[in-house]
Amino acid sequence: MTDYAGAEASLWAYTVPKRYVGAALADDVSCDVAVIGAGFTGLRAALELAEAGTNVTVLDSGGVGWGASGRNGGQVNPMLPVFRPDDLLKAVGPTYFERLASVSLGSADALFDLIRKYGIDCDARQKGWLRVDHCAKARDTARKGAKLWMEYGADFEFLEGDEVRRLSGSPIYDSAVMARKGGAVQPLALVTGLAFAAEKAGARIFERTAVGAMARGEDGWVLDCGTHKVRAAQVVLATNGYSGAVRPDVMRVILPVTTTQIATDSLPDDLYDTLLPEGHTIADTRRSIMYSRREPHNRFVYGGAGASGRDGTPRGFDALRRDAQRIYPQLKGVKWRWQWGGKIAVTEDRVPRFMEPEPGLLVGMGYNGRGVAMSHVMGKVLADRALGAPADSLPFPVSKPDPMAFRRIQALGKGIAITAMQMMDRYEMRAGA
Ligand SMILES: Cc1cc2nc3c(=O)[nH]c(=O)nc-3n(C[C@H](O)[C@H](O)[C@H](O)COP(=O)(O)OP(=O)(O)OC[C@H]3O[C@@H](n4cnc5c(N)ncnc54)[C@H](O)[C@@H]3O)c2cc1C
Repeated sequence: MTDYAGAEASLWAYTVPKRYVGAALADDVSCDVAVIGAGFTGLRAALELAEAGTNVTVLDSGGVGWGASGRNGGQVNPMLPVFRPDDLLKAVGPTYFERLASVSLGSADALFDLIRKYGIDCDARQKGWLRVDHCAKARDTARKGAKLWMEYGADFEFLEGDEVRRLSGSPIYDSAVMARKGGAVQPLALVTGLAFAAEKAGARIFERTAVGAMARGEDGWVLDCGTHKVRAAQVVLATNGYSGAVRPDVMRVILPVTTTQIATDSLPDDLYDTLLPEGHTIADTRRSIMYSRREPHNRFVYGGAGASGRDGTPRGFDALRRDAQRIYPQLKGVKWRWQWGGKIAVTEDRVPRFMEPEPGLLVGMGYNGRGVAMSHVMGKVLADRALGAPADSLPFPVSKPDPMAFRRIQALGKGIAITAMQMMDRYEMRAGA
């Protein structure tokens, strides 16, 4: 059975209908494309490549869904975490703005279509997503941003007052952007279904196979996986928040940040009925973000920024339980049966990165906690590029790793920077700033 380590403690590991069971690499392998990382990004790329007749091999040091893809909140969000179109325009320029706006606003529909196409049993629900504002300044930005995004075709609505409190089930928030295309999936079931689909299309998937080093020779890439090697003409690196020393230049472009979740067991009907009564998913605008959703059997899931211990395990669950009770006072005294966490990859401008550090090495990552839908966009783009799509035809600008990324946070220290963000959130919420 796949070892899900930290993810094993999740509600998703408990409710996943079927698990993927794969072998570790036990021989040398040669292929057209090697994909490092068996999460949404890597497996979506592998699925597209295998369907196009490419000989593709997927390698993961844990297993299918071991990273964020098997542990996340399962919220399908049809937008990048860039609140105003002009910020995205500034980050990527007019050509890529048009393309990125279009693929990100269409990303939720595209994902639900994919789930239907492959018949993936992952409790997919498209009932809409609420992004609620934690302070007056956020409300202002959201109101203006929603109006502008609607001019680019976003199916958004700006809501205020009692309707927000009714739909959220929380007395805390006064305003929200409703994104009707949003929804939810059981993430571990989705990534597992994707693995089965990729394998059926011809991809080979190896679990418990860490790539320790990679080098480019005359005939392509050689990946060192301990006792065995994988040779490939091209490599797709899809390791996101779990990127390690295999490419230190890529690691500098993203900041891995831990986020944690807790889930209740079955709640009484009269309590459960007050929480997100119309089945929306919800997230707020805090830097240390809250996100939650309801589940079958009257369960409720609540997430937020956490912390990692020295051993890398997620921490901060007591603070998360306190936060849940502050946002939803009716949850006082409930028993939280599950707790787990994982790592997201943050970029400086909140825009995902498509990089080609060297010929034949394609890298896609940096979804800033909004990767459930966008990683599928990226996976397809990685496959298109590996199949020969011109660099200037893609929705993402192709970049090289930026050696200056996160200089300020590196100088401050990541832990201090995150604590500072949480303090600013608390101040803004109290002051209604
Ligand atoms: C707790 C949590 C909640 C989240 N909630 C949401 C949400 O509600 N909505 C949303 O849109 N997004 C959410 N996200 C973000 C989303 O899960 C990610 O953006 C997305 O899953 C990234 O997918 P990926 O395939 O790129 O990376 P991952 O799923 O992280 O996969 C990377 C894989 O690379 C493997 N790997 C790393 N190094 C190596 C190596 N050297 N050799 C072999 N394998 C290697 C790892 O084992 C891992 O399986 C959340 C993330 C977390 C952690």
